[in-house]
Amino acid sequence: MLITADWAVPVSSAPIRDGAVVLRNGLIEAVGPADGLAKKYAGVPRHDHPGCIIMPGLVNAHTHLALTCLKGLLPPQPFAEWIRRVPQAMLALNRDDLASSTALGAANCIQAGVTVVGDIAHGPESAAIAADAGLGGQFYWEVLGIPAKQIDDYLDAIEFPAGRSGFTRRLNCGISPHAPYTSGPELIRAARALAAERRMGFAVHLAESVAETQLLHDGSGPLADLAKRLADGFEPPCKTPVAYMEMLGVLEGAVAVHCTQVLPVDIPVLARRVRGVVLCPRSNAHLNNGVAPAEKLGKGGVPLGLGTDSLASNETLDLFEEARALAEIAPGLGAERLVRMMTDEGAQILGLGDVFGSLARGLQADIAIFRIPHSKDPYEGLLQHAGRRSLEAVLSAGLWRILHGQPTFPVSFADRGSQLASMKAALALDDSHTASAQPTAPLRA
Ligand SMILES: [Zn+2]
Repeated sequence: MLITADWAVPVSSAPIRDGAVVLRNGLIEAVGPADGLAKKYAGVPRHDHPGCIIMPGLVNAHTHLALTCLKGLLPPQPFAEWIRRVPQAMLALNRDDLASSTALGAANCIQAGVTVVGDIAHGPESAAIAADAGLGGQFYWEVLGIPAKQIDDYLDAIEFPAGRSGFTRRLNCGISPHAPYTSGPELIRAARALAAERRMGFAVHLAESVAETQLLHDGSGPLADLAKRLADGFEPPCKTPVAYMEMLGVLEGAVAVHCTQVLPVDIPVLARRVRGVVLCPRSNAHLNNGVAPAEKLGKGGVPLGLGTDSLASNETLDLFEEARALAEIAPGLGAERLVRMMTDEGAQILGLGDVFGSLARGLQADIAIFRIPHSKDPYEGLLQHAGRRSLEAVLSAGLWRILHGQPTFPVSFADRGSQLASMKAALALDDSHTASAQPTAPLRA
């Protein structure tokens, strides 16, 4: 199949005016000027998209697809309150509810041009549903709230895959100890060791809130009781969150999510150790968690990705809306870097740079096509105009998922199921708000 547009933006190489991409057997076969490729591949089915830009399928490097049904239920509030209310809502949901919520999240991703996610999984549904929906990426099974010695039993209980059976180049699994205040130091180390042993991805929410910084500084603040209950063996290290993780020896190759609360001294440590930092500016704003020093991180040599986080703390899973929010607070990054963050740089952070994230021969045939007004600079054009409202088409693994702006798969089924889940979650939140005793269990534990 030959697909042409006004511009092809391969990301790994310079934009091509009147460009085209050739797809074969679920992979990218060739990228170049449309005229030349049309001659070389005469006779293959051709799709022309005048007025459009072709780019790689987007990489949303931090999602919680299972939390999609919480959209609109948790208004802006202090982080320490919000983090308690999410499990209160989720504990009201059964597996069907979680599956519907995840399916709607996956559909929302595709409908925004995203074909790759770095998802925090609470059980088996995320990877399975994502595979059906056409998403690929890393699925980080989350562990928290237990002593380190229980990690194997816990992973069994949340159906963490024992091996790579069922996993492919598109679909990968990893581990995420949630955060320093819900996972004790030995649990974080055990999760890191397991990820290294099995050559899997490792991600952690890090330096997200002032409350986390305060807890790690002197053990005080609104997360202290949560840490006492969930983070077995935690003692305040009197360090920044980044320095704490470095002290534990777990930063090497890690994906650090958020990093709003980092000091200048932390930046070289991150640059030296982590696979990358995933920024989630709209979630940070929703929970008043401050602003990550994105430009300083970028200039300091830290690979950067972009994530929407979940709809428990964001309005949409539209990654270009996230990029525009980041451009406002970090204009120095520029349009090209922002596009890289949501394509090849994001894919590399997830450890999947040789599978996704650019239009290059041999990579997965994951393509997003946006209707963009004529622009001399396609990166600027994308940053200003791309998003779910200008989405023309999406392919993943060479299959059309969106064509002429419309999904090729049913969305209404997931939408109805997710609405039911949303109602149950709303009732649980209402009950917990009025109840004197607060539920204490972590999600699915
Ligand atoms: Zn998150």
